This record gives sequence, structure tokens and C-alpha cells, in this order.
Amino acid sequence: MARIAVIGAGLGAMAASARLAVAGHEVTVHERTETFGGGVRLHERDGFRFDTGPGLLHLPAVYRDLFVKTGREPLEKCVELVRLDPAVRHVFADGTAVSLPHASRAGVIEALDGALGKGAGERWTDLLARARTVWDATRRPLLEEPLSAADVPAARALSARDPYPALRRKGLLRRRTPTLAEVAADELRDPRLAAMLTGCAHAYGLDPRRAPAGAAVLAYLEHTFGSWHVRGGMRRLAEALYERCLERGVDFRFGTEVLRVREENGRASGLELADGPDVDADAVVAGSCRPSADAATPDADVSGVPAASRLTVLLALRGARPTGTAHRTVVHRADAPGTPLTVLRPDDPTLRPDAEHESAVLSVTVRADEVPDREEASLLADRLITAADTAGLNLGERMLWRVVHTPEDIERETGVPGGLVPAPALAGEGIVRPPNRTATKGLYRAGGWGHPGGGPAHAGMSGALVAGLIVEGDDWRGSR
Ligand SMILES: Cc1cc2nc3c(=O)[nH]c(=O)nc-3n(C[C@H](O)[C@H](O)[C@H](O)COP(=O)(O)OP(=O)(O)OC[C@H]3O[C@@H](n4cnc5c(N)ncnc54)[C@H](O)[C@@H]3O)c2cc1C
Repeated sequence: MARIAVIGAGLGAMAASARLAVAGHEVTVHERTETFGGGVRLHERDGFRFDTGPGLLHLPAVYRDLFVKTGREPLEKCVELVRLDPAVRHVFADGTAVSLPHASRAGVIEALDGALGKGAGERWTDLLARARTVWDATRRPLLEEPLSAADVPAARALSARDPYPALRRKGLLRRRTPTLAEVAADELRDPRLAAMLTGCAHAYGLDPRRAPAGAAVLAYLEHTFGSWHVRGGMRRLAEALYERCLERGVDFRFGTEVLRVREENGRASGLELADGPDVDADAVVAGSCRPSADAATPDADVSGVPAASRLTVLLALRGARPTGTAHRTVVHRADAPGTPLTVLRPDDPTLRPDAEHESAVLSVTVRADEVPDREEASLLADRLITAADTAGLNLGERMLWRVVHTPEDIERETGVPGGLVPAPALAGEGIVRPPNRTATKGLYRAGGWGHPGGGPAHAGMSGALVAGLIVEGDDWRGSR
């Protein structure tokens, strides 16, 4: 049995902790705030409840596997998952709207042909079929296999190649591989379809003008594996994971900030805390943005990781949720082309005081160099509500009150400067995430700022990869 010291109680770190505890290790989590979950939080007031972090789960298989491997109760016994169907409703700047059914190719073609004109459906589903090539090529190296410091050159080579099989139209032969925005324009040939594709990557914090065409894999994943609502909010998933960690004997120390990772003879030997004696450990798992305030961890630099922040507006609404309301509406705004607004309106009685009220969450991605202060955030919130109303959602007139959750709030919750949120790892991006097995022996990295990147599913996977390396040994190459 080894003593494992974990930094932070985000999803990635807790996923690693539960797996390590079940393997017989003595695991202690040191969390600087007074609660678990990192950015996965809930705002509660007057009987309304809102997710302030991510509102939907993708690839729930990652958490199904975690719950199966760490206890008797499977995921579905601990949280209720509801698949969105329709998966999404898009409202475009020209006023056209379309609802896309979950996973049905024929249904998607019919909906898109009906709303955007004959041929639109096939162009969209053909592009998703090409995106599947990216999933097949990158699923193992960019999701299911750990990354070690020694593998970084090979991973860089892989990430320099975009596996997306772009169609090359006459006159458009390029020497370099195309960006997502370019394939969206070339291959979809309708600005509304292009907005659907680029908007999906944008919601993960990627800039489609720079992101590789292979980022189309994100739309493929949502289409194929679905988008899922956790009944009671995503915070329920964090609670279930925390409870699982407690059941397996993980010890949590809240209000404990880690200053740096201690090293002896090139090996992580424990933690230095801001307030309290040093902690001795046989291995350290960093589930935070920066594990050390100094240069103790040479490959801890996360400056090149694509990331953006989020602005979220929580709306308490009077009046019942109208029948037939889409759970997720993406508004492609005329006032800010390329910056779609996501509106989540779950049909979930646990999130509202009674049937005569409704809770809604509006969110946009905010670029790292355009993070608004509180006053600017409030003005932006006004514009978002107007944009939703222009798209026919009529939320403003029903508003009882609102809360604006800003990048500053995210920074407070996660400790990440600027409240940045890391994007998932992609091939063709030219950037490799900091490895799970770092150059310092015994120091591992979990969570969104390491391989395979951000988001609940990818961070959950990072926990599986780190636990695999510690339990099976540093040469472990992932489950087969
Ligand atoms: C508003 C918002 C919206 C999001 N939307 C999406 C989305 O739509 N799609 C998507 O894929 N992802 C989204 N994410 C990202 C997703 O929530 C995270 O990637 C995922 O939860 C994984 O988080 P993590 O494991 O990296 O930990 P984090 O959530 O980053 O938590 C890190 C934890 O470590 C603690 N910590 C940090 N430093 C220290 C220290 N020195 N000592 C002790 N503790 C420390 C922090 O307090 C925090 O609890 C969103 C996040 C936010 C905040």
C-alpha cells in the first residue's frame, strides 16, 4: 500500500482517487476550497437550482466504467441520466430554426432538408461520417492511453497530423491542412450548417479559425453517443463521485492549499502546504492547473493549452416551462456572429420550486484575451437575454431574478487564473497536453490541464489513466 497525496478535488482528481483507493492505496485529497467538484457547482436560491459549470455530460461510458470498477452500485443507481432528444435546437441569425433528433441519421437528414433545403442533411451527415475517421484514429492515443513525458515527441508528431479526410474541391488545393472553419465553409456550403459545426467546437472553447478540421470529431461524438442531462444537475455527478471516494476510504482535507510538490533525489516525496506541516507521500497526483508555485515540476507548463472562459447567466423564471421546449437551444446570434449562445432549459422538477416556475441557464464562451470584469459581464448578460428573446425564447419578460456567473467566479472555484477552462485534446492541433506521467518520478497529472484534456469525460478518463500508471506500473499502455 502506497501513500498517495492528491492535489485538488476536481472530477479528474476524484476519479483517480476512487480507483487508487479501490486498489488498496491510502489516498488523501488536499483541496484549497471548502468543497469538492472544482468547476462543477450548483447555485441554489428560492427553490431554483442551476448548474454553474458544465450542464451536459458526453461519453457517460467513462463514468459507467469508473462506477463499475470502484463499487457495487453502478452509475445509473447513483445518478439518473436522461438523454437529450431532440439533441439540440438551432436558431440561426436569419430566423430559421431546426431541431435535431438524437443519433438518427435519417431523422437528422429529414429535419435539415426540411429547414435548410434539400441536400443539407446529406452534406451534414457525410461530414460527420468523415469525422468518424478522426474518432477511429485518435480514440486510443488521445483518450484511452496514458501519456508519459518520454512519449511527448511521438505524441507531438501524431498531433501534427490531422486525420480528418478533407474533401479538396477544385481550386482549393492547399499545402497546409485546413482549419475547421475552412472545411465547414467548403464542405457544408451553407453558412447555417457551417455555424452548427463551428459552434460546437466553440462551445468547447476552441477557435474554429485555428482549430484543426479534426475538431469535427466533437460534433461526431455528440451525434453518436448523445448529450446527457444528469437529473438534479451535473453537481449530482460530482456528489456521487465524492460519495464513492468516501466509501472507498479516501480522506479529504478541505481548506488545504498546496504550495508545491516536494522532491527528493528527482522523485516526488510529498507536498508543502500553505498552512500546515509538510505531507509525506510515495506518489503525488496533481489534479489542479499548476501543482507547484515554483519550477519544481518542469513539465507543468500549461500556457500552450487551448482554453477559454465562460460567462453563465442563471435565470429564475415565472410561469410554467412551455410544453415542447427544447432542453438545449443554440442561438447563432446576429449581434455576435461566431459566438453562439447556449440556452439550457431542462425539464427537471428538481431544478425549480414548482410547476409554475422554470430555471434556465444561458452560457457563452469568452476568449482568454477578452475576459470581462463584473460590470462588462452584466452588460453582456443583458445582450444574451436580448439575443435569446430575439430568437423567440421570450425569457426576459418572465425573469424574476438573474445571477451572472463570471470568469472571476470560475477562478475562485478552480484556482485557474482568468477562470480559463481547458479544451479536450485533439489531433492536428500541434499541442500536446502535459503528460500524465511527468518527468518527475512519482508525480502524475490528472484533470483537464493534463492529457487527454478538459471536460467531464476527458478529465474522468485522465483519472483512469493516472490510476492505471500507478497501479500497473509506469509502462502501462492503457486497458485493451
Ligand atoms: C463554467 C464552466 C463551464 C464548463 N463547461 C464545459 C463544457 O460545456 N464542456 C466541457 O467539456 N467542459 C466544460 N467545463 C470544464 C469541466 O467542468 C472540467 O474540465 C471538468 O470538470 C474537469 O475538471 P478538473 O478535474 O480539471 O478539475 P477542476 O474543476 O479544474 O478543479 C480543480 C480543483 O483543484 C483545486 N485546486 C487548485 N489548485 C489547488 C492547490 N494549489 N491546492 C489545493 N487544491 C487546489 C481547485 O480548488 C479545484 O477544486 C466547464 C467548466 C466551467 C467552470
